[in-house]
Amino acid sequence: MDFRDSPEEAAFRVELRAWLTGNAEQFAVTGDDYWRKAGEWHRALHGAGFFGVTWPEEYGGRNLPPVYDVILDEELALAGAPPRPSLGYLVHGLGRHGSPELARRFLPGMIDGTERWCQGFSEPGAGSDLASLTTTAVRDGDDYVLHGHKIWTSYSDVADWCLLLARTDPDAPRHKGISAFIVTMHQPGIEQRPLKMINGVTTEFGQVLFDGARVPADQMVGSPGEGWRLAMTVVGHEREPSTLGYAARYGKLVRQMAGQTTGRVPEELAWAAVQAEMLRLHVRRRLSEQLDGVVHGSDGSLDKLLMTWTEQSVGHAALAVGGVKDPELLSAYLYSRAQSVMGGTSQIQKNIIAGRILGLGA
Ligand SMILES: Cc1cc2nc3c(=O)[nH]c(=O)nc-3n(C[C@H](O)[C@H](O)[C@H](O)COP(=O)(O)OP(=O)(O)OC[C@H]3O[C@@H](n4cnc5c(N)ncnc54)[C@H](O)[C@@H]3O)c2cc1C
Repeated sequence: MDFRDSPEEAAFRVELRAWLTGNAEQFAVTGDDYWRKAGEWHRALHGAGFFGVTWPEEYGGRNLPPVYDVILDEELALAGAPPRPSLGYLVHGLGRHGSPELARRFLPGMIDGTERWCQGFSEPGAGSDLASLTTTAVRDGDDYVLHGHKIWTSYSDVADWCLLLARTDPDAPRHKGISAFIVTMHQPGIEQRPLKMINGVTTEFGQVLFDGARVPADQMVGSPGEGWRLAMTVVGHEREPSTLGYAARYGKLVRQMAGQTTGRVPEELAWAAVQAEMLRLHVRRRLSEQLDGVVHGSDGSLDKLLMTWTEQSVGHAALAVGGVKDPELLSAYLYSRAQSVMGGTSQIQKNIIAGRILGLGA
């Protein structure tokens, strides 16, 4: 594949670079400030025509090929701007499993950032083993009534809507008794409790408790019992190459650390450079396959594992170069620890690779 920009891609890059020159700096903040400005960043990026570019025009996208997201990731990293808002997995989940009415009502606001979303899947006793979730949704007239406890819910503090998994049929086999709902977060019966992350950030995610909150039955996504299928679509997309656009960011951090290093280059930094470049080329290959119409299923687990190894190698390099005295590098190290857990742990990805790709006995 020829990795050079086509004339259209080059024009897009120039336009984006010009916009970033005037706009990136005000959003280049860290820690809690970064999360506080995340909504404004999302809306500014979309308003300028640079977010959701590969999604359908009818929902606020531009119908462009996936390579444009790579250009975006590269240019955002180069400009020191925040990454693209991470919600592609929700767009795909709702787009694929929701009715046309739900898609028309909810996708535009999700994509343009006027309505913020969170994903209510994990519970204190149901993470890797998501099918054991115990949050219930019980039919009451035209509504369902919700009781339960979600945890590790990213963006729950600012979310207007939650894509929620709840058990609607306690007697069905566990995967089949789960349904998905679009629940407003602005109602009685929902309590959001912030969680403090290892890097000190308190505004990234929280716990959400449901105690009698209600959701209209027509805001169920798909049919009763189809929540598991939606969940598999969502987690599959959480692990896909477009999310791996972080490759550009790792490369930039590696180059920045190389510039800070005098004398002998730490082995961790050299290894991080190799991993970052490997991931960059891998992402390009995946996108090239996508353009050829190849659909990636379980392969997303390989991508997720590769991304985790890269991010954690870069994290180890950050610690080797900056020790605990450089806040930015220390934060990069601390955050990298979460990568092997979020979106499905590394052990789970290895189980999927063993069972579904290598065909080894479960
Ligand atoms: C930064 C971050 C953001 C997140 N955002 C969200 C969000 O927005 N919405 C949401 O719903 N969830 C979110 N999560 C939760 C995430 O999906 C879960 O943490 C993850 O699925 C693991 O579940 P758990 O924490 O319950 O760990 P557990 O499932 O309890 O796992 C504990 C350990 O046991 C291992 N293990 C478990 N089962 C097996 C097995 N079968 N074979 C081998 N090893 C196994 C795991 O690999 C892990 O090491 C987020 C997590 C993080 C860290």
